Amino acid sequence: MSRSHPPKTHADWQALAASLTDEKGLETRAFVDDAFVEAASGETFATTNPATGETLAHVASCDAADAEIAVGHARAAFDGGAWSRLAPGRRKKVLLRLADLMEAHKHELALLDTLDMGKPVGSSLGDMAGAIACFRYQAECIDKLYGEVAPTGEETLALVLREPLGVVASIVPWNFPLMMTAWKVAPALAAGNSVILKPSEKSPLSALRLAGLAREAGLPRGVFQVLPGFGHTVGKALALSMGVDCLAFTGSTAVGKQLMQYAGESNLKRLYLECGGKSPNLVFADCRDLDRVAKHAAEAIFHNQGEVCIAGSRLLVENTIREAFIDKVVAAAETMQPGDPLDPASFMGAMVDETQYRRVLDFIRQGQEEGARLRVGGEALEGPGLFIPPTVFDGVMPEMTIAREEIFGPVLSVFGFDREEEAVAMANDSPYGLAAGLWSQDIDRIMRVTRRLHSGQVFVNNWAGGDQTMPFGGVKQSGNGRDKSHHSLEEYSELKSVWMSLAT
Ligand code: NAD
Repeated sequence: MSRSHPPKTHADWQALAASLTDEKGLETRAFVDDAFVEAASGETFATTNPATGETLAHVASCDAADAEIAVGHARAAFDGGAWSRLAPGRRKKVLLRLADLMEAHKHELALLDTLDMGKPVGSSLGDMAGAIACFRYQAECIDKLYGEVAPTGEETLALVLREPLGVVASIVPWNFPLMMTAWKVAPALAAGNSVILKPSEKSPLSALRLAGLAREAGLPRGVFQVLPGFGHTVGKALALSMGVDCLAFTGSTAVGKQLMQYAGESNLKRLYLECGGKSPNLVFADCRDLDRVAKHAAEAIFHNQGEVCIAGSRLLVENTIREAFIDKVVAAAETMQPGDPLDPASFMGAMVDETQYRRVLDFIRQGQEEGARLRVGGEALEGPGLFIPPTVFDGVMPEMTIAREEIFGPVLSVFGFDREEEAVAMANDSPYGLAAGLWSQDIDRIMRVTRRLHSGQVFVNNWAGGDQTMPFGGVKQSGNGRDKSHHSLEEYSELKSVWMSLAT
């Protein structure tokens, strides 16, 4: 794909999309042992553009046979040492080269995610910046991570070494296809592991393009492999494999629970889970500039069509400002309508597929049936394409289905509270604990509430702030792992204790 200037307008992106798909330039095969190959069974599955309903491509549908082959190559690569024993500074160079290649191809990569899962292309470009930054950060970290000398007596030299784990399988979702991939793959590679990536069956295309770039960057054969396919086939096989040392997963809590079983049934592989959320966003009456806060509260749920693990899907508002504040949120929501994902002006795009679209509409129906008050939205837009507008429910009670379940769509539930303790109790009343937001100008309250929120991250007077320096992950049934920052790098290495007796 060659272009003289980067795409900017709607027409530019449409032209780029046409050239990318018309040239049959889409890579659809698995990437195994440095080569693009069909699935062992020869089977394929269709991947569809949810904004148009058109089939984009038929992609290799890997299963247990492919998993076994890939695990064998990954193990051979690891034992061979071309990557696992390479000096960290040299691994860094290769990963920085990969980041540069991703940068050079960022429009194409962003477009693949947009076509595959329906998010606006502007948002996909933001994801690419995040994915590239993650590779650069992890690459830069790896030659700055020291081992330790333990404080023992003179007769001993006691070393604590950090070593890669071996074969890491990364299973990722479709909502931020390449960014979630980067959060898993970059630290695992940087630490010296061999990595097998299983992208979601709903968004496999950018992962396959990344494989081509990884090869170009000089990753040795077998060190990075990509197996597209379904969770219950290739995903399950990787999770049950005796040859996989670590499983790093981002996805739903239900599947996370299954993976724990698979790890227990097989080799007790190390398991990191980044799962779902139902994140509370607390607005106190003392916060400054309610218009601004209302806009952020709307973005917190409607960004990426609400298909965000940390979506601020439960808005808790102090009752003294509630009516006026909801009016402002509704006004903000009305400006965030879905549109063609290829139009850089679109704030929201299409829902990822028919299943997710129906599921979200079902939750909206349940909200109405259970007595919540629909303030805006609620009806799907006419097709083609799977578009649901921003939907706001007021008068939501904690026991209602829309208050408890992760909807993973553009549906906001608003609750009222009178006292701080009541707000904290409502916020914590969820099996999830991924993110929470808090808007106030009272520093004592901010500190008190922040400490009491049972959540992996707390955003104070913002939503979704953070960069590569900050770990990202949840508590409770939102999971146990941490992506990003040097903490994620540590997760992909093992401590080895060496006790050396010295002659005296
Ligand atoms: P999902 O759990 O259905 O699928 C995630 C991945 O797991 C996919 O690749 C899928 O093929 C695979 N999978 C499914 N069943 C499997 C099985 N039995 N064995 C092995 N692999 C299997 O989730 P999804 O619909 O792709 O993504 C949405 C979910 O991801 C939401 O719950 C969201 O909150 C969560 N998520 C969490 C984070 C986080 O950082 N905590 C980030 C993004 C998304």
